Amino acid sequence: MLENLTQRLARTMKTLRGEARLTEANTQEMLREVRMALLEADVALPVVRDFIASVKEKALGEDVVGSLTPGQALVGVVNRELTQLMGGSASELSFATQPPAIILMAGLQGAGKTTTTGKLAKYLRETLRKKVLTVSCDIYRPAAIAQLETVTQQAGADFFPSQPEQNPIDIAQAAVQWAKTHYYDVLLVDTAGRLGIDEAMMQEISALHRTLNPIETLFVVDAMQGQDAVNTAKAFNDTLPLTGVVLTKLDGDARGGAALSVRHITGKPIKFVGVGEKLTGLDVFHPDRMANRILG
Ligand code: GDP
Repeated sequence: MLENLTQRLARTMKTLRGEARLTEANTQEMLREVRMALLEADVALPVVRDFIASVKEKALGEDVVGSLTPGQALVGVVNRELTQLMGGSASELSFATQPPAIILMAGLQGAGKTTTTGKLAKYLRETLRKKVLTVSCDIYRPAAIAQLETVTQQAGADFFPSQPEQNPIDIAQAAVQWAKTHYYDVLLVDTAGRLGIDEAMMQEISALHRTLNPIETLFVVDAMQGQDAVNTAKAFNDTLPLTGVVLTKLDGDARGGAALSVRHITGKPIKFVGVGEKLTGLDVFHPDRMANRILG
């Protein structure tokens, strides 16, 4: 079993028991352990560097109170700082618009967009009691349209059909029109992904964004991508005014470092995490829980 950060710091700090402050000398060694823990949790290197610098600044001079060891005091600082950098508290979806509230889903192929669209349809319908319509603008993979239809039915929401011969903008406009005339609260728009970032995909999703003017533009990213998640997040954030992130596949081995990296790179809140292939596998993102997971 991997040691968690508290255990690692306790080991490093055996000699320092009884010191009353975190100082340059006693934090140096501990910060090396924090750095290792973050890298093992798959936080991207530049993000780790920035983080360590800011923890160092916050930690130095911090009093080690009561029965805490310097190691425990530092874990406290690291934990608070991680939680803060990931947004502090949970971030809600916005519905501050004339219905339908349009939610645009963006991300690479395989990230979990269609599955997450189904999960959101279920969550919006069952938990928030919204009337939900979904539509797929993925004209490149006919199977993608059928897949969205299936998960939408499982979610008990309504599906707006589209055909591979149509163009994505026409599909989007027709779906908005239908959602308006049929009094839907929310329209979830699934989009095409590619295996990597490409110019044509970015132009297409930008055009869809301009047409739809969505209240939420959610970037869906696979937590298992680890370090690569950063490049993908940067490319999408540069192209689209993202309003939030969904981090998928956290039921796997991923330690969750991608959460810190993606938040740091985009500055956008992580709103949900995917924790399974089933439609019930969606949780609201809690920064404090993720901080604990990252620290092991
Ligand atoms: P898309 O290409 O972005 O639409 O991705 P899909 O929604 O088709 O998902 C790709 C694969 O990832 C499918 O096999 C999904 O079942 C799986 N998947 C999606 N989200 C999760 C998740 O949170 N956990 C797990 N374990 N698998 C997921």
